[in-house]
Amino acid sequence: MQARYIKTEGIILSVQPYLESDSILRILSKELGLIPAIARGARKSTSKRSGVIQPFNKARFELYSGRNFYTVVQAQNIAPYAMVSDSYIKALTLMFASEVVLRTHEEGQMIRNAYELLDAFFAISMKIKDESIFVYLTGFLISYLRIIGYQMQIYSCRHCGRRIQDSVDGTLLETGEFECSECGENEIRNLKEIKAALKTSAFIERRAGIPSTHNEAINFKDVNILDKNSLLHLLKTAVSYLRANTEIEFKSFDAILKAIETEG
Ligand SMILES: [Zn+2]
Repeated sequence: MQARYIKTEGIILSVQPYLESDSILRILSKELGLIPAIARGARKSTSKRSGVIQPFNKARFELYSGRNFYTVVQAQNIAPYAMVSDSYIKALTLMFASEVVLRTHEEGQMIRNAYELLDAFFAISMKIKDESIFVYLTGFLISYLRIIGYQMQIYSCRHCGRRIQDSVDGTLLETGEFECSECGENEIRNLKEIKAALKTSAFIERRAGIPSTHNEAINFKDVNILDKNSLLHLLKTAVSYLRANTEIEFKSFDAILKAIETEG
């Protein structure tokens, strides 16, 4: 790689301490995809950059591309998404979303629309109530799965083909398919929650400015009151589907489940 200066905006997915006062960052950048970068002296208390170099923050970076890695020359905050950490449950959620993005990218890989989608999800997370975060997370996963090539077949029953709008109830299966309540005998039924997640998925995509496959979802109306257990089941199913397709275990998801359990 030839030495040169590069400007890009990016979202910090992870920050690892390195040597005495440096940090190694994983940045999802708009122009270069996932890149590693070293921020020298970022952990010194006198560093001007220490406020910017935090997980989740969106910044404008000036990078020097050396032989083996990038070095942060300048970092200027664009969106202080790290502030979301005021809420423990939101911080865990964004950590999980960051892990999903990080581990489904190869270093140097650029996945079309991934940056825009994550940015939109983080921006929305700042504004919503804590109790809404899981339905938005499920919506984000549905959208993200689609852009990495694992779109769920969620709009009609896998057996009878009945559309979810016309179904009385039903369940999302771990295969990423929908099964209506007349075809399956699932104890868990979460049609309302599925509709809500599709709605948030469409909402995030709209905000990200990327083409949506489910514009009709934005019109789902009967999704105001969600059942917490049904929603949690839906989220777990979406994560199982992600795991099955990518063969990756996501450690930070267990932290979310633990937090929900202790909260009761
Ligand atoms: Zn059916």
